[in-house]
Amino acid sequence: MGEQKAEGHRRKTPMCKIGKAGDLERIRRRVRDAKCFCAKCGRAANDRIYLCKPTDI
Ligand SMILES: [Zn+2]
Repeated sequence: MGEQKAEGHRRKTPMCKIGKAGDLERIRRRVRDAKCFCAKCGRAANDRIYLCKPTDI
């Protein structure tokens, strides 16, 4: 039956995880012109899809 709560489309790896993986080049691009902020990890990104708990800056 019913679908579970829409947990969002997490196709991309959240920046929070990328950071742990050490892929800083990817983060560098995503942080540029950041508009969103992760309330959980304190990271910033230009698109909320990169954050696990995005909020407005
Ligand atoms: Zn996060």
